[in-house]
Amino acid sequence: MNFYVGVDVGASVVRAGICDHEGKMISRASCPTRIRGRNSLTDTIIRAIRSQTAVGALKGQVVRICVATVGPLNRRGGIINPANMPKMGYLPLVEPLHDSFGCEIVLVNDCVAAALVERERGRWAGVQNLTYVSIGTGIGAGVVADGRLLMGKDGNAHEVGHMVLDCEGRLKCGCGGDGHWEAYCSGSGLPAFMRSIADDMPKGKLKGSGLYKLTMHSRRSLKATTIFRWAERGDVLAEEVLRRAGWLNAMGVASVINAYDPEVILFGGGVVLGNWKVLSRHMVPHVGLFTRNRMPVLNLTSFMDEAPLRGATLIATECEAFEELKPWRYHRV
Ligand SMILES: [Zn+2]
Repeated sequence: MNFYVGVDVGASVVRAGICDHEGKMISRASCPTRIRGRNSLTDTIIRAIRSQTAVGALKGQVVRICVATVGPLNRRGGIINPANMPKMGYLPLVEPLHDSFGCEIVLVNDCVAAALVERERGRWAGVQNLTYVSIGTGIGAGVVADGRLLMGKDGNAHEVGHMVLDCEGRLKCGCGGDGHWEAYCSGSGLPAFMRSIADDMPKGKLKGSGLYKLTMHSRRSLKATTIFRWAERGDVLAEEVLRRAGWLNAMGVASVINAYDPEVILFGGGVVLGNWKVLSRHMVPHVGLFTRNRMPVLNLTSFMDEAPLRGATLIATECEAFEELKPWRYHRV
């Protein structure tokens, strides 16, 4: 049997979807993303795929693998200095996977894969100008403009999480830059943003904040989800964090609108998916203040947390149909 494999490399989980020639997902596997060395990510992907394709009834030949991954990507076929996996330098993906499976490999940004599957299969399929924005561990985007999937010279078009929203650069991003959107509003950035807000708030106002007390007395690093849970209880610090993050998200989204003029922006990523109601309540009313373009529809992705994986499996099975991806297909003869 021939297989087509889509892989979604997230900051915390690597997921593989094994498809038949019609693109039907017949099996899936997932492993935690543990980067312990230059080759450990590739080894994880190989293990995830082999656990499904080298055993039992599913034994067969892999025809093509599409890896949709957090960026930034480079032309050598790997990830370079990923912001969410600090100090890792260059992580090769394409050549080691090609050596292991002897098949064509396509490497794309995870949000680009998500934008493609929204264009082809989503609720807004067929819309000519569509943007996918992910707010999860990091922040990124994928863009369809005038019907065409935008890629950029190295596949890094729309690394929107690294747009500067705070020119005073108070918080440092995982990429090393100052004042980036991701440093404040992503899952990895929100806890540091909360601490900087707490430092600025009058101590009298913080007296009633359970979140503040927890932060002061717990040595464990706080997670973004904790801030959202405290906001549900009306915690004064948590609400202030979400209020200010709402303004920054509005600035980021307005910049996306100014750059790409989409009909629709579809949001994904762990921070958005668990908290869309509260995030959009704090963000949407302010977006129009930062753009003069006609407002697009702002909504959740059609595929929830599966969008990058569904995009990767679509590319793996139907790559020939997408002219934009031609330069990104690798097969050594
Ligand atoms: Zn950055």
